[in-house]
Amino acid sequence: MKIAIIGSGFSGMAAAYDLTKAGHQVTIFEAADHVGGLAGGFKEPGWEWSVEKFYHHWFASDKHMLGLIKELGWEQKVLFPRPLTVMYHNGKFYPFDSIVKMALFPGLGWGVNKVRFGFVGLFLRLTNAWKALEKYTVDEWLRKWAGEKVYKLMWEPLVIGKFGERYYKQVNMAWMWARLKARSTRLGTFEGGFQNFADLFAGRLRDMGVEIQLQAPVTLIERDTESGALTVHNETGKVYDKVLVTLSPEAMSRLVPSLPEAYLHGLRNLKSMGAVVITLALKHRLSEEGYYWYNLPKSAGFPFLALVEHTNFVPANKFGGDHIVYMGDYLEPEHEFFRLSQEELLERFLPVLKKFNPKFEPEWVRKAWLFRTAYAQPVPLLNHSQNIPNIQTPVEGIYFASMSQVYPWDRGTNYAVEIGRRAARLMMGNEQ
Ligand SMILES: Cc1cc2nc3c(=O)[nH]c(=O)nc-3n(C[C@H](O)[C@H](O)[C@H](O)COP(=O)(O)OP(=O)(O)OC[C@H]3O[C@@H](n4cnc5c(N)ncnc54)[C@H](O)[C@@H]3O)c2cc1C
Repeated sequence: MKIAIIGSGFSGMAAAYDLTKAGHQVTIFEAADHVGGLAGGFKEPGWEWSVEKFYHHWFASDKHMLGLIKELGWEQKVLFPRPLTVMYHNGKFYPFDSIVKMALFPGLGWGVNKVRFGFVGLFLRLTNAWKALEKYTVDEWLRKWAGEKVYKLMWEPLVIGKFGERYYKQVNMAWMWARLKARSTRLGTFEGGFQNFADLFAGRLRDMGVEIQLQAPVTLIERDTESGALTVHNETGKVYDKVLVTLSPEAMSRLVPSLPEAYLHGLRNLKSMGAVVITLALKHRLSEEGYYWYNLPKSAGFPFLALVEHTNFVPANKFGGDHIVYMGDYLEPEHEFFRLSQEELLERFLPVLKKFNPKFEPEWVRKAWLFRTAYAQPVPLLNHSQNIPNIQTPVEGIYFASMSQVYPWDRGTNYAVEIGRRAARLMMGNEQ
């Protein structure tokens, strides 16, 4: 078959890999000037490694991604350090990267709260019954089983941070289950950064015969009802037997307006959050304790949700001695942070860095970058499994695979690989 894939993120590239291996002729259309999608990165002169536009790491449980890397023969290039994650509480930061460390968190005290926290954490780690959990919101289930105090202190900041005031009370409990189930304290990356991996993968695909067209945004996909041919409209408008779209649900609804109303309605009803991330190259290390990831409750007044010192994960010598710090948040695309300039955001963000290191001065900033995306985090509402659009759309030959369909798992490159490969099997008729 002649197959077009729209998007060169990890789902598009994983699908292209399997389809090409099976003998099909694949063309990838990518709007950007590089592959890798949301997991892509950038590199300054003098840097040996690239930095991800949006902070990225793998978990030890990311079997689809790690399995693919093994198949490609690059497992030696995967590194798994164990950086430190901390949580803010009453002006101080405490270790927060495992159930045991969380249980030692001081706000919980030593009584019944700690026991309830431990039992709920253990139950969620051990159960596989996520379908039963999606009938409840995180808010109601954890208030009931972990108790008001534990919920307020340990879980509520996380859901407010990820889903904002608008959605946090509506997110279903299977989302929290998936987070606890799949996460590990060891965090992984690829030698040279995620962009290096994406470039190597794209190179392998090209060697296998995949055509990758960069700066080639697709505007419309049409099916000829008589011949069944699928025309992919960009500058050329070529014809394909099958097409896989790996963009957001909103973009999918624009690209294929001929989809039946029920499918379009399903796409438009899916909710998601955007992300705003400022990255800094600092002349000095920010966290003197060597912390990598700071979780920051919104209630403590920080203007961002996470501060991530990347160079406490990957050494600064890979970046010419620059110390890389991300300040990021998940926000609705209407939020003012999507309109403010980089300078305006820096005016709000930089003064806060003294809370992480009192010695910090704005002169430490050698360079700053701003990255924003309107589609960063799908929002799973109650009984979300019933709202997932099928990969195989009602328009014959057109398939759709996105972050919004990997549920009950949270989005991630691991699940992008899984859904890309699943879509490839469906396109070849190997899976129902
Ligand atoms: C802030 C943030 C932090 C994250 N952290 C992690 C993490 O730590 N670990 C992890 O594994 N995952 C993380 N993720 C998630 C991960 O980035 C995604 O799950 C994954 O990259 C999605 O891959 P994809 O192929 O589905 O989509 P995408 O990567 O979005 O790929 C879609 C591609 O389509 C292209 N495109 C868009 N429109 C068009 C068009 N009209 N025509 C042609 N091409 C088009 C885009 O340029 C893009 O390259 C994070 C995401 C964000 C936003």
